[in-house]
Amino acid sequence: MKNPQLVNKEGFSHPTLPYRHLSYKDFQVYFINLFSINKTLFKTIFTTFILLLLFNFSSYSQIECGVPTNTPNIDYGSIIETRGVFQPNSGPYCINLFFHIVRQNNGLGEFDPNEIDNLVVLLNDSFNPHNIFIAKAGVNFINNSNHFNTTVTYSTQNNSFNTPLFNNSVNNAVNFYLVNSVREIAYPSDIYYNGVAQKVESKNFIVKNEKVLTSTSPHELGHCLNLLHTHQGRGGSSGCEEDIDAENCEDCGDFVCDTPADPTLIPYPKNYFNVDSNCIYIGGGGFNPDVKNIMSYSGDCREHFKPGQGKRIRDALQESSLLQDIIGSDLLYGLATTVGDNIICADEGTIVEIINSEPPYNWSVTPNLTITENNGSSITVVANNYYASETGKIWVSHFGVGQNPIEINVWLGRPQSPESIYGPDIVNSGAIVSYQGGVAQGATSYVWWLPYAVDIVNPIDYFNDNWQMYPNNTRFNSQVFTGYGANNGYVQIMGGQ
Ligand SMILES: [Zn+2]
Repeated sequence: MKNPQLVNKEGFSHPTLPYRHLSYKDFQVYFINLFSINKTLFKTIFTTFILLLLFNFSSYSQIECGVPTNTPNIDYGSIIETRGVFQPNSGPYCINLFFHIVRQNNGLGEFDPNEIDNLVVLLNDSFNPHNIFIAKAGVNFINNSNHFNTTVTYSTQNNSFNTPLFNNSVNNAVNFYLVNSVREIAYPSDIYYNGVAQKVESKNFIVKNEKVLTSTSPHELGHCLNLLHTHQGRGGSSGCEEDIDAENCEDCGDFVCDTPADPTLIPYPKNYFNVDSNCIYIGGGGFNPDVKNIMSYSGDCREHFKPGQGKRIRDALQESSLLQDIIGSDLLYGLATTVGDNIICADEGTIVEIINSEPPYNWSVTPNLTITENNGSSITVVANNYYASETGKIWVSHFGVGQNPIEINVWLGRPQSPESIYGPDIVNSGAIVSYQGGVAQGATSYVWWLPYAVDIVNPIDYFNDNWQMYPNNTRFNSQVFTGYGANNGYVQIMGGQ
């Protein structure tokens, strides 16, 4: 071990943690030995090593979506029409969605629970234009390192993806599992997915944490609600190809006529992409696909469902026996969603509003809050104590439904200190190490400090003496380069708003 540095870590009001062995130990020793040869040789080998690393990563099978695609098409719209009902099934529908946040055995590494409400907003942005509303039915935590990096297996017997993780599912909701990674055990090699739906029409789906706040989440939920890929029938999936002129659109492809034929989209920067960085289709072949469709493979280009897809979901919600118990029992109540800041200060009023619901409303708050203005569907609240650093609650109910008010959790005033910092106390020079901060109640962001001299930079200069880290690090997995200056000091984290 060359040039060890002592690190004292502080969550601002906590003592230094005891010594622990370094993580990535082999990796670091490898670095140090190389460095002791000489700097130029090190640089050459280091660059080669990084290129090799990049190559290895890009050769992993990382696929957008796993869902069994060879289930028979169930056309609920035709079933409704066959009964002689020609009225448009326009909704509204409210769907219960239950969130399972999966963590390691030690309770670490999870998707930030404070972001669940943002996820609900993201999903509603996709589904609300089709008169479909998503309600948060609940949040569950699962501490299990096996499930944290989930494996799924495909069963030909029931034509679905199975995993013991689904044993945690609740009945009256679609179950959304948030994991670190999801891998299918497959031959000749395993396949890594951004997201997996159990099958088309099901009540379980999985998304890896990195992709949770992207279009992958409404995409997988779309599968659960009976939507197929817009490229169904092409790109190796089962079924028949939709003609470019859409003549067979009712019988082939995704069975939805306002989604044009799709050759299977691959967004830039993958090797053989046919959607460029401006989300323009450049694949030719006479296709004019909807590159912004959530049920396509166009990655970050995806924004919307088409009306025909909305109708297909609503028809499934009306007719499917499997999906009946995910529909909110009290539609009016279920549609109510609040918007507004969940951090409230004493010197500044915060507006809390209720949307997608019918008046009148009855508001109440905990004693540490005051309602300064009440406009029926929205209130302005302030914290009573200027020095507050605590939780508060707001309740809103309809006069007619009042026994079940919606509860809104808010934070008053400044965030508290993080409980702890996880990571090594003694590190090598020129090493890459990782620190993780505990939760600071009331914090919406986190700021790190490292031993001086420190650079917050991108990219990191791996030949510099200074401690370095990337800008905008979260409290999770904050990678740090320790530099060659052998500078001892403190690693600290503070919550911010
Ligand atoms: Zn998919």
